Amino acid sequence: MSLDHLQALEAASVMPTYKRMPVEFVKGEGALLWDDEGREYLDLLAGIAVDNAGHCHPAVVAAVREQVGKLVHVSNLFYTAPGMELADRLASSSLGGKVFLCNSGAEANEAAIKMARRHRPGGEFVVLEGAFHGRTMGALSATPQAEKQGPFEPLVPGFSSVCADPDAVRAAITDRTAAVLIEPIQGEAGVHPIPDAVLEAARSACDVTGALLIFDEVQTGSGRTGNLWGYEGTTVVPDAMTVAKGLGGGFPIGALVTAEKIGSPFLAGDHGSTFAGGPVVAAAALASLEVVSEPGLLAAVRSEGARFAASLRELPGVKAVRGRGLMIGADIDGDAPALVMRALADEALVMNATGPHTLRFVPPLVISPAQLDSALTRLARLLAT
Ligand code: PLP
Repeated sequence: MSLDHLQALEAASVMPTYKRMPVEFVKGEGALLWDDEGREYLDLLAGIAVDNAGHCHPAVVAAVREQVGKLVHVSNLFYTAPGMELADRLASSSLGGKVFLCNSGAEANEAAIKMARRHRPGGEFVVLEGAFHGRTMGALSATPQAEKQGPFEPLVPGFSSVCADPDAVRAAITDRTAAVLIEPIQGEAGVHPIPDAVLEAARSACDVTGALLIFDEVQTGSGRTGNLWGYEGTTVVPDAMTVAKGLGGGFPIGALVTAEKIGSPFLAGDHGSTFAGGPVVAAAALASLEVVSEPGLLAAVRSEGARFAASLRELPGVKAVRGRGLMIGADIDGDAPALVMRALADEALVMNATGPHTLRFVPPLVISPAQLDSALTRLARLLAT
């Protein structure tokens, strides 16, 4: 099918919630993508921080092929091995408590919000200004951005936002607070790491008031920052975290994971999801998790991320560079969305902009040093013109 035909189908039948770039991808391998005309692209976006193990990693493909030929779905009324093994792997590699599997980041945050209400009935929620926690009504209520929330009011009551300042955060958390929900690095806002002092203030206020400190690791999890989980790169351990995006090797999955001391505030029948933890996505996630947990890969994410960020700082028109591992934001002088379009058309480089002057780099974690060098060469050309 030609791109023209796809665009005609979109115009006729697809709700216009996305502004797609004019390219049809048909194949991927590692950090490379190919369009329908055979042109090769270098991917610095990874399906928005999802394809952490790289496109079509052989281990993920093999795990999915094997599982899909055996059993696809039976529901959570029965046992299947991949979902149980995945929950065990998630808990044992992180906070050691209990896991609720679901299908996306927003769903993981919905589960976290409901769980916090079970923990403190009627309790309220504190989030940080600039946060993005998803598009469903609960997650949207936790996303204090007027243009995203405005058209869909009234929102879920009980959410308040506070600036990322230790004193302000301490003051906002009271004995009525059920949970504080924080991205350790705000991704959609333009890759803004939250200072440890702010996380520590939230941690101590939660300890005093009994509120839960929940990290939204939908974007920072699954190796993205050079640790398996983003909190490992901070001075704070949360009571729970939500993960999704990079967890499933490209397949849709999310999870809420609690610390051992929290266990499960949920009781039987409190929450559920028909597809959650299905055998195929869970098999994909187990295979992908194996890839991104590899210590050599995580070390490379840290060192290559630091090298890429340092090189970015030297490029013309780059004003600031932030981030950790291979989650990097760069503020530029020029028009970032226009540069993203030129990158695609002129340099076969896939990336995105989180704002009018901010670029975000979240490539597959398996990207090679030579591919990152090639990206820098292409970016230098783009920024120079
Ligand atoms: N939380 C964070 C930090 C995210 O970056 C996103 C998506 O960008 C979400 C939640 C929502 O995830 P999903 O799009 O899978 O619902």
